[in-house]
Formats: sequence, structure tokens, C-alpha cells
Amino acid sequence: MARYTGPVCRQCRREGMKLYLKGERCYTEKCAIDRRSYAPGQHGQRRRGKVSEYGLQLREKQKARRIYGVMERQFRKYFREADRRKGITGENLLQILESRLDNIVYRMGFAFSRPEARQLVRHGHFTVNGRKVTIPSYLVRPGDVVAVRESSRDKGRFKELAELTRNQGTMEWLEVDSENLTGKVIRLPNREEIDIPISEHLIVELYSR
Ligand code: SF4
Repeated sequence: MARYTGPVCRQCRREGMKLYLKGERCYTEKCAIDRRSYAPGQHGQRRRGKVSEYGLQLREKQKARRIYGVMERQFRKYFREADRRKGITGENLLQILESRLDNIVYRMGFAFSRPEARQLVRHGHFTVNGRKVTIPSYLVRPGDVVAVRESSRDKGRFKELAELTRNQGTMEWLEVDSENLTGKVIRLPNREEIDIPISEHLIVELYSR
């Protein structure tokens, strides 16, 4: 599956906010948003005029895509699926994005960022219900157990993570055993539990045009 391979911090600067795409670096003074808090490019420092309704909707969609690392085509597919499901389309969309395996790995504290989680999944370090899964977009369901593979547990990265996440509170919809590097998805999160600064109704409006 395709992914964005350009400059990462540029995406945060375009959205004018931290998207936390670089793990530890995002929490240091090296963060590009702290150093250059204007949009990238030649005209980045120009004063911006009034943003149109379409512009607002587009930015919201791009922000969501960038946070979860999803390309346009796949994002549209998620929207169609969200629209098909019962309930509120915007909330359904966020739930689908939250159930991606790379996001679950990140939420469980087994990676410092979603891009890192994606890479770890691609490299075959995780299992779902005991079977190796290397597809970051794999949708995890309630009841599924995600674990670091037996053969990967001794790797320095995971030892460090086990240490770091030991006292870290996890989300209520996830059950994490940081000693054994495993976690279970109890249920899908509701909107209040998804701490993503996105107005999803703008995305719904954009795709409903
Ligand atoms: Fe965004 Fe992190 Fe880069 Fe800061 S360091 S601009 S939060 S990706």
C-alpha cells in the first residue's frame, strides 16, 4: 500500500499544528512547529485571507489523513464504509481509522508514533490472535489480541518500550499487558475517547458535496 514519503514535518506545518509523526522528536525543541510555525513553501509567511468553507473542509480531511497516514483512495474507501454502517458517519469514520492495526499498536504503547508502528508491523513484529500480520491497514476487531511476536521480544526496542509503558495509563477500550507486550481490544472507542482534534462533520460535508 502506498504511503507518503515526503518531508514529514512539512505536513504539521501545513496544518499549523503538531501531528506527532516523529515520535520522541515531537516532544523536544527540535520540533519544526516550534521553530517555524508558519506554512511551508515560498508563500508560507504571507498573511492568509479568509478561508472558504471548502477550504476548511479540505484542511480537516487532510489533517485526518496525515494523522493516520492514509492515502486519499483508501481514505475515501473508509468514508464509504463509514457511510454504509449504522450510526453517525463521522464517528464511524474515526472508529475505522482507530481500528487500523498500526494505530492500535501505537495506542497500546508499542511504538512512539503511528509511522513507527506502521514500520514495525510491516517488518513482521506483531501478531493478531496468534497469527503474524504485516498489513498496517488491517482492521482489528473487538476481542482481538495484538502481541509482539515471540522472536521480536528480546529486541532492544521492545525492551525499552516495555520499560517506558509500564506505568503509562492506557485507553479504556484497550487492555494492555506491557510486561508480556500484548494487548486486547475490548471494544471500539466512542468519540469522546478519540483525542484527535478533528471536526469530522466537515469531512462528511466534503465528501457529500
Ligand atoms: Fe510534527 Fe513531530 Fe515534526 Fe514537530 S517534530 S513538526 S510534531 S512531526
